[in-house]
Order: sequence, then C-alpha cells, then structure tokens
Amino acid sequence: CGIVGYVGPNNTVEVLLNGLRRLEYRGYDSAGIAVIDNAGNVAVRKRSGKLVRLIERLEDDPLPAGSTGIGHTRWATHGGPTDENAHPHLGDNGKLALIHNGIVENFSELRDEVLAGGVSLVSETDSEVVAALLGLEMNRVGDLETAFRGIVGRLHGTFTLLATHQSEPGKVVAARHHSPLVVGLGDGENFLGSDVAAFVSSTRRAVAVDEDNIAVITADEVRITDFAGNPVEFSEFEVEWDA
Ligand code: GLU
Repeated sequence: CGIVGYVGPNNTVEVLLNGLRRLEYRGYDSAGIAVIDNAGNVAVRKRSGKLVRLIERLEDDPLPAGSTGIGHTRWATHGGPTDENAHPHLGDNGKLALIHNGIVENFSELRDEVLAGGVSLVSETDSEVVAALLGLEMNRVGDLETAFRGIVGRLHGTFTLLATHQSEPGKVVAARHHSPLVVGLGDGENFLGSDVAAFVSSTRRAVAVDEDNIAVITADEVRITDFAGNPVEFSEFEVEWDA
C-alpha cells in the first residue's frame, strides 16, 4: 500500500518511519521496515496494526544502524493482517528483503515452483513468493538488478517492488507494473516512494518512474532502465506540497 526506500547517511529507521507516517492517509493494516545494518546483515521488524505498534516493537528491540532500508504499510490481499504476513519478506535465506504493493495473480503456481526449489515460506502472501523467486534468480545470475529483470516478466498482476540484498549494500532496486513508483533526489542520499509523500520532508526533487521500468538507487546515483535493460532518460520535477 505505502512504500518508502532510502540510501544515505541519515538515520535510516527515522527516515523510513517518517515516510510511512506521511503515507498513513492511504490506510493500511500492518507495517514493517528492513535495513542492511553496518555489519552487512539484513534486519527486519514488522507488525500487524498501526505504525505505533511497529514503533513500540522498535523501542523494545531496536534495529541496528544502517544506511540502506525499505519500509512498507500493507493493505492485505493474500493472507490476513498478521505479523508474519506483514512486509518486508525475506528471500535468499534471509540475505534479501522485499516489499510489494499490488497483487500477483499467478502466485500459487510460482509458490509451487519456489517450494520445489527448496525454499520454505513463512507467510500466506503472494509477496513472499516474489521474494523467494527473486532469491532463487539472484543465486542463478549473481546480481540484484539482473535478477529483477529475470523475474518481472513472470509476475502476472500489479506490482511496485523494492528489494535490497546484503551482498550489494548501499543499493535499493525497484520495479513497477501498473502500480506507481517515484524517486526522490537528495544530496548524497536518494529515496523511493509509492508517492512523493514518502520523501517530501527531505527533498522536493522527484522523478516519476514510467510503467515497466526498473530504478536503482545508491546514495549518489539513480539509474532507470526498461525491463529489457535499455537505459531510460528521465527528467526531474519539483514537488508542490503544502504540509
Ligand atoms: N498482495 C500483497 C499482500 O497482501 C501486498 C498488498 C499491498 O499492496 O499492500 O501482502
């Protein structure tokens, strides 16, 4: 439902929570965030219910500091609003975290495939199947952007996907198909969002990612390509916002 991604030197957990707070107006039933910590491990905290429940969880069990993270507010379509079904979901034996807006219509056939591939699933969501599929593809092709390109054409339905992998810290990869995605351009930091509310308190420079494109952000670079890997030229716009 609501999506935020961040790479940069500021407090990643605070940046993500701030973005999720501004996306609350969309409505949601669960929330969660993942960071790649400074030791290079993926760490996730997620909870059903309102953002305040996630914040309580973070107070009891804080996330380690890191400069790469993704955050999600979920509107359940596949599987009830439980802690397990909240995003982010893990793939590649916990080395990868993924968030998803939308619906993957062919998830049950993909679920059979990833189960046959030896992955065990812990949620009832279509989204965790995508995390598993991306993990298997990552093992085959070796890098996250190529892995995205290998799976996006296999997903029927609608998606905005963001993922980060501990073998490529400092990077978030995103893709969209019939679901919105915008990039926020910062100074030594960059953002992703399902809409500009995700990052408007940090930057007003934005790029609308076009249908069937992949965006890759690091702290100081933004690249956009189509699903075939061809570079896409993009131009920024100024966000008008009265908050
Ligand atoms: N289909 C996914 C789920 O039920 C994502 C829902 C959303 O867009 O928040 O977990």
